[in-house]
Amino acid sequence: MRKKIAAGNWKMNNNRDEAIALVEGLLQVAIPDNTEVILGVPYLYLHELQGMVSDSQIQLAAQNCHQEKSGAYTGEISASMLKSIGIETVILGHSERREYFDETDELLSRKLRAALDEGLKVIFCCGEPLSVREAGEHVAYVKKQLTEGLFQISEEDLGSVVIAYEPVWAIGTGVTASKEQVQEMHHEIRKMIADNYQPSVADKTHILYGGSVKPANAAELFAQPDVDGGLVGGASLKASDFGAIIQA
Ligand code: PEP
Repeated sequence: MRKKIAAGNWKMNNNRDEAIALVEGLLQVAIPDNTEVILGVPYLYLHELQGMVSDSQIQLAAQNCHQEKSGAYTGEISASMLKSIGIETVILGHSERREYFDETDELLSRKLRAALDEGLKVIFCCGEPLSVREAGEHVAYVKKQLTEGLFQISEEDLGSVVIAYEPVWAIGTGVTASKEQVQEMHHEIRKMIADNYQPSVADKTHILYGGSVKPANAAELFAQPDVDGGLVGGASLKASDFGAIIQA
């Protein structure tokens, strides 16, 4: 039985005081036993917030990492640095990183390798833009992203990966994919995993949905058979909203 994961992605939001207040609010939320809570916070706050959540059920994630372990890459953060401050999870391949920072499937496969080599868990994002959805090519598009970015890793390594399906047209737009659209794609992704590994691996892999998840739609989306929780942007910035999603 797969547990539920409620992951927040703060993106480039919250100053330090706001970050602390948000975590204080979330520490008051009763987290159901079968639910894992992960907050993707800006690098700058990881260390301090780690101290706040260390005795709780809340885990922190970085929103990115560099593909190299160390070196002359001004402004970058490596997986090994994250590991050294006790961070266990990193989000890779978010559509904003793909779009604004030119992260290709090939680069993401290198970042993934770097993260896994440090023993980090990875939330690996995929999802199609609107034009692809409208052309009815969304399954093939996601299959290419996963084939080129993810499926080169071993079955054992895949055990450290959570897939987040995030249709680009639903991210930050207020437009949520319907429960049928979400279930269809999650089912297809599970089939892709079964084809590349084994059905038992597909059964174990967590697949999250992301794209305008809110308290009002979380329960319906998370109830779909192939949906194991959500990766939540905007609604993870308010403790009461994210708290309701955690409990959905
Ligand atoms: C995201 O950034 O991963 C996301 C899904 O954002 P939002 O929930 O705001 O659509």
